[in-house]
Amino acid sequence: MTTPPDPVSSPLPSSAPPRPTRLTLDLGAVVANRRRIAAEVAAGVEVAGVVKADGYGVGAVEVARALAADGCRTFFVAHVGEGITVRAALDAAGVAAARIFVLNGLLAGSESALTAHRLAPVLGSPEEIADWAAFGRARGAPQPCAIHVDTGMNRHGLELDAARALAARPDLVAASGATLVMSHLACADEPGHPLNARQLALFSEIRALFPRLAASLANSAGVFLDPAHHFDLVRPGVALYGGAIVSGEASPMRPVATLEARIVQIRRGRAGECVGYGARETLARDTRLAVLSVGYADGFHRAASSADGRPGGRGVLHGRSVPIVGRISMDLLVVDVGEVPQAVRGDMVELIGPNVPIQEVAAAMGTIDYEVLTSLGRRYERNYRAG
Ligand SMILES: *Cc1c(COP(=O)(O)O)cnc(C)c1O
Repeated sequence: MTTPPDPVSSPLPSSAPPRPTRLTLDLGAVVANRRRIAAEVAAGVEVAGVVKADGYGVGAVEVARALAADGCRTFFVAHVGEGITVRAALDAAGVAAARIFVLNGLLAGSESALTAHRLAPVLGSPEEIADWAAFGRARGAPQPCAIHVDTGMNRHGLELDAARALAARPDLVAASGATLVMSHLACADEPGHPLNARQLALFSEIRALFPRLAASLANSAGVFLDPAHHFDLVRPGVALYGGAIVSGEASPMRPVATLEARIVQIRRGRAGECVGYGARETLARDTRLAVLSVGYADGFHRAASSADGRPGGRGVLHGRSVPIVGRISMDLLVVDVGEVPQAVRGDMVELIGPNVPIQEVAAAMGTIDYEVLTSLGRRYERNYRAG
């Protein structure tokens, strides 16, 4: 009788096996995109880096290090845990002076973790401000934070009345340790939307009530509205990662993420046959099909399937478009390579990248650049390029 190998003590393979999907992330492009934004704002306006959600899927540690090396000194994350990760990366890179703001407010019980890692919460309610001020008093000194005022989005942030009431309490503002007052635009990616002007007017009024605090309103798209939106600090996120500025238009930023998937099989497809789950797509002609090792479990959303003659997304192989045929499965999808006679098993097909912009991928998926990026899967071979 043989005993099965003990899974704990059996030796690991000496080198990791090759992966069928490859994600290449261009940190040089991230840095160039931030410089591009810096060129849009006046010299005294600080350009922060928003690296929440693991740097929009690109990698918060790698992005923060690259931006810090180029002079970025203010970062925004969403969660305390993200802040701890970014702080450790910056400390390891010898960048001690950077500020890290935690956008999603003050979670009760997270106060000591925030100060231990020199993180500044973005406070959006009178309760949060009272709690943070009390924590500062207990520690013997106000601890840094930002104050977020809602100017028309009804998301996180003080209501206008609460902001005005806070401004009438300079003692509380001082005790809160606030260094920044900010708000967030709901429609900056639609330059003509009337809410932009309303939010700008309200924020201008609010920031005047806090003359000692720096002010910040603009996200990526806000930077490209007129300079009145810039104030002291701008907070671009998606533009750093190649996202669109104006909804529905091509992005002027450099693409950052390239996703390629390997062809695991080439097969003949005959007119009248169907492809994929649900048999929702029928081949109109004889062709060659390539099966790619990537699927919705990799964040390549099923919504980019083709069905019932309605086209889905596409890849690019040897400079030619290869349309997705049928439903995208969990780990595989099928493209039509009938126009690419040289396609062979093992070829890498570009699904996101310079030839297939994330704006186009997002449109095929019925979503936005942000969701394409933050969905990028975990089982890719990830390569970082310095640019
Ligand atoms: C995510 C976020 C940003 C960055 O927005 P982009 O549109 O990605 O540039 C800026 N400010 C706040 C409050 C955010 O939540």
